[in-house]
Order: sequence, then structure tokens, then C-alpha cells
Amino acid sequence: MTGLRTDQVSAGRSFADGGADPVLVLGGGLIGLAIAHQLARRGESVQVLSRRRNEAAGFVAAGMLAPHAEGLEGAMLALGQRSLALLPQWVGQIEADSGLPCGLLRSGIVVPFATSAEREAYPTAALGEPLDRAELEAEIPGIGAGFGCGLLFAQDGQIDNRRQLMRALERACVERGVAFAEGTEVLELLSDSERVLRGVRLIGADGLVRSLPCRRAVLACGAWSASLLPGLPVVPIKGQMLSLQGPRRALRRVLFGPGTYLVPREDGLLVVGATSEPEAGFATGLTPRGQQQLEAGLTALLPEAASWPPMERWWGFRPGTPDRAPLLGPSPINGLWLATGHYRNGVLLAAITSHWLAALMGSQRGGAELGERSRSGGLTAADAALLASFHWDRFASPAEIAQGSTRHT
Ligand SMILES: Cc1cc2nc3c(=O)[nH]c(=O)nc-3n(C[C@H](O)[C@H](O)[C@H](O)COP(=O)(O)OP(=O)(O)OC[C@H]3O[C@@H](n4cnc5c(N)ncnc54)[C@H](O)[C@@H]3O)c2cc1C
Repeated sequence: MTGLRTDQVSAGRSFADGGADPVLVLGGGLIGLAIAHQLARRGESVQVLSRRRNEAAGFVAAGMLAPHAEGLEGAMLALGQRSLALLPQWVGQIEADSGLPCGLLRSGIVVPFATSAEREAYPTAALGEPLDRAELEAEIPGIGAGFGCGLLFAQDGQIDNRRQLMRALERACVERGVAFAEGTEVLELLSDSERVLRGVRLIGADGLVRSLPCRRAVLACGAWSASLLPGLPVVPIKGQMLSLQGPRRALRRVLFGPGTYLVPREDGLLVVGATSEPEAGFATGLTPRGQQQLEAGLTALLPEAASWPPMERWWGFRPGTPDRAPLLGPSPINGLWLATGHYRNGVLLAAITSHWLAALMGSQRGGAELGERSRSGGLTAADAALLASFHWDRFASPAEIAQGSTRHT
């Protein structure tokens, strides 16, 4: 393994100023930033290696906080509820550290249905308030004629990730002393013959390829995570979005319709999402078909909104897994942690993910071998039991993932 002066890599504060056992965060999207911030709050020396901030799904998402409205089930519902409960405290920390608002709104989310039979079959029906057509109209004035009833999930909400949360998180990280290497692509993980992490090989913003030693890192590269651990079952699920400027408070609730949802921000901006295009791979750009799908869904949900002025159109990549649940906790490589595969719930799950990963990685301080104790770190017994549902080894054997994925030093 080649040696490296770390201040050649860091665009901000170098490790020379920090603690003795720094942590590398691989990927500077929503999850990477959230973990970096929590680690820094615990007094860790942290460096974020980020290829391109603008490609992060954290800037793409609609920001729904919707474990109930999305009809999550089983361990995913429990994880979503756990994160939803943690969100106000998590946002409070970011706002206090950054001095910036995050745009958290406990707006409630309405799910409309054509028939009451459809409503009763919804996985989380028992956790919502049933609405008849008149009540639905009172909650969503102007809702399309195709919907006869609904469910109100008053406990769900939204956050303005695109315009506020990401910026506030970046600022909070800087204020807490996190070092950033923007424009830096991690090319490879370096481990020894015992599968212990020794560092990463990267290409910096200056175009130079180098190695950077480390004993602890977290893989938070979103939809691109499998490029560093090729056996990891994470694939891109492209989503297109658009926004319109509506009158302020025209819509108070988020409306989570079939195939399309509408998220009203406080200033009247209406975010319309989203296509789901697994077949697109990493194909960039908007498509006429995707945009038409959003426009048709918008017209069916809220006909009058079809005449509101258009604002923006954009797209991005969700990190999908076969069971649509994230990969959290240890990896097949000792010292490398996983925080990826958050699919369509990464904004919702950022709070619990960063809380858990900071606790787990902190428990491995000093490069300690990863034993059973540090698999659950400083987590409560209930959290450790829940975390076990999201370990990577529910999919593959260590050999399948580790083989050929890292260079041995
Ligand atoms: C259209 C759409 C709508 C969504 N709506 C919602 C929603 O309403 N609610 C919700 O909870 N979630 C939503 N999501 C999901 C959420 O956005 C994601 O789950 C979440 O942003 C994933 O965060 P991440 O940090 O893992 O990935 P990202 O935010 O994508 O960040 C990954 C980062 O890693 C960097 N990177 C990749 N490879 C490398 C490398 N080799 N070296 C260095 N850096 C690298 C990339 O440049 C990128 O900046 C939505 C997603 C999409 C696309």
C-alpha cells in the first residue's frame, strides 16, 4: 500500500489537525453527510470523500417522511417509525449546528383510493384515519373525481431536502470540523489477507491517483455502492420529478396517490413525483414518457394544478436492493461499514441510519476487531435486534461479496 500525505487529499481541514483514528465517509450524499455529522458530534475526526454533490439523490428526493402512508410492513415499518420518532431531535441538531432551517413539516399525508375495498386492503390501513369522499375533499380541496375515499396519516410529514436539508447538513458538517474532498472518486477499497480494511485508492479533484490509509470507513455511495463492493445487491432505480408554483397553502397535506404524489412546500411550491425506472440503469436525463406520466398523474389527483406555472424538472437514482430495504451495519471487511440501499426512503431513514452508524463505528474506535459486541455497538437491545434485519448477510455469503471486490495489500 502506498503512503500518502492526507493533506494532499483533503479540500478542507486535513487529518493532521484532527484525532488519531480518523473515519472516512465514502460518498457525500444525504446518508454520508448525516453520518459524518453524527460522528463529528461524537468528537470523531471525519473526512468525506465525495465524487459529485449534485448527483446525490438527496438533492432529488421529494422529502416525504411516510412510513405509514407508503404502506411499509414488518421490519421496514418498524425502522421507518423509529426514524420518524428521531427526526425532530435529529433536525434540531442540524439546525442548531448550521444555523439554517431544514423545512421539516408534520403536514400529514393523505392516501386516496377509488373504493373502500382498496382502502381496507392497504397494509397500514389500521394506522390511518379513514376519510369518506366529503372528508377527503375537506382535506384535499379540488381532489380528482376518481377517488371515493382515503386514509389520513397525520403522523407522517415531509422535509425540504432539495432546498434546505442538504445545505443545512453540509453547513453543520463544516461547523463540526468535518473535512471534505469534493470531486474525489474512490476507485477501490484496500484490505489485507485477513479482510481487514487498510485504506482506499482514489482519484482526486486534481486528477491524481493516490492511496489513503484508514482503519474505519463507511460505504455511503448510494446507487453507485456496488462499484466498490461488486457483490453488493444495490442497483439504480431512476426517478424523474417536476415542480409547479401553486398558491400558498392551496394544499396543506401531502397527497400520496397511485403512481404519483404531490408534496406542497410552505411557499406553495408543489413537488410532483416520481417515476420508477429500474430498466433505465444509470441513463441520465428526462424522457417525454416519464414527464407525461407525472403530468397525467398530477391531472388525475388535482386537476386544477395542471394549470399552475411549471418550475423545474429533474431526475436521479434511488439505491435499490432486492427486498427494498437498506444494508446497514458491518460488512464482510472488518473496519468497513455499510449504509446504503435506502431505495425510496433514504430521507426518512437518514436520522436512524446516522444515529446507529455513528454509535457502531464509535464502538470500533482504535481499529478494534469487529466482534459481536461491536456489531451492535452502543445500541439498545431493541435497536440491535431491529438492526439485525438489515445486515448485508441476508443476501449473500462473505466470499461472494468480498471476492474480487477489494485489492489485498
Ligand atoms: C426521484 C426520487 C424521489 C425520492 N423521494 C423520497 C422521499 O420522498 N422520501 C424519502 O425518504 N426518500 C426519497 N428518495 C430516496 C432518497 O433520496 C435516497 O434513498 C437517499 O438520498 C440515498 O442517499 P445516499 O446518500 O445513499 O445516496 P445519494 O444521496 O445518491 O449520495 C451518494 C453520493 O455518493 C457519491 N459517490 C458515488 N460513488 C462514489 C465514489 N466511488 N467515490 C466517491 N463518491 C461517490 C455520489 O457522487 C453521491 O453524491 C427519493 C429518491 C429519488 C431518486
